[in-house]
Amino acid sequence: MTVKGRIFSGMQPSGNFHLGNYLGALENWVKLQDQYECFFCIVDWHALTSTFENTEAMPKRTYEMALNWLSAGLDPEKNTIFIQSQVKEHAELHLLLSMMTPLSWLERVPTSKDKLAQLGSQGTDINTHGFLGYPELMTADIALYKADTVPVGIDQLPHLELTREIVRRFNNLYGREVFVEPKEMLSQASLLPGLDGRKMSKSYGNEIPFAASEKEIREKVRQMVTDPQRVRRADVGNPDVCPVFTFHKVFSPAVVVTEIDQECRKAGIGCVDCKKCLADHMVNALAPIHERRIVLEQQPERVHEILAAGAEKARKVADETMRSVREVMHLPN
Ligand code: SF4
Repeated sequence: MTVKGRIFSGMQPSGNFHLGNYLGALENWVKLQDQYECFFCIVDWHALTSTFENTEAMPKRTYEMALNWLSAGLDPEKNTIFIQSQVKEHAELHLLLSMMTPLSWLERVPTSKDKLAQLGSQGTDINTHGFLGYPELMTADIALYKADTVPVGIDQLPHLELTREIVRRFNNLYGREVFVEPKEMLSQASLLPGLDGRKMSKSYGNEIPFAASEKEIREKVRQMVTDPQRVRRADVGNPDVCPVFTFHKVFSPAVVVTEIDQECRKAGIGCVDCKKCLADHMVNALAPIHERRIVLEQQPERVHEILAAGAEKARKVADETMRSVREVMHLPN
């Protein structure tokens, strides 16, 4: 395989992984693993910025996240899959970068202000040193592996720009190109709406869990809203405003999508049948994921072994980078 470059990407372990998250990022990672050398990291320390008061669920969430990734098709033979907190070099580099990052750089990150306001309004006070330093920890994550490419959503671009500035500052200060300036690979946001037509989100209660069984998928699809103007079976519909049709575009073959589009507009198909057709295609499309999950759920020790082996592999690369960092900073190795 000719490798195009090295990727670092991470996800916070959350117990709420849904189909929108899968299609927004994880599905893309599965494609990238055949083109890049990938480091995929469960960033549990990042999760602490908002869950530091309640950490009991962290081991379960971390395990669940690994299960999601592996059942989605991430191959531990091709990628380095690991937990951030098992590679302590992330913390060391975070500390060293925090010494040289101007406070004003961190304070101006627009997404931080938004998140602070959003969680503050929900009663979670995350106005902490750790939260402010979040972009430094993210920089440490990427820089440790000298990743040249980082898949990001458009809202994360300011974070990555800050990463580049910190990396540049470090290299200039210590007179050596220890770190690589990473470039972004813009990921398309998931277009999948929730069951009620709004953005799919656990906080709206409109999500389809990634691990949903066939029965759950069928039940969730049955609950989905349709074109609100189509009240009776004989009314013509407009697929352009119908969430069910958006799902068809993601999960059903092109020929089916065209047929639904035409039939809906002349009331040739009813919403009940249209949803049944969608549920069939979703179950079909997600079957390989569910099959892998069932196998993995029988062998939790295998999941832990994969994470341990990934951490060991990651540690070797991180250790090498940290040796250069300590050397240029005149710190003992
Ligand atoms: Fe939506 Fe399908 Fe009903 Fe048309 S037929 S309104 S696409 S559910």
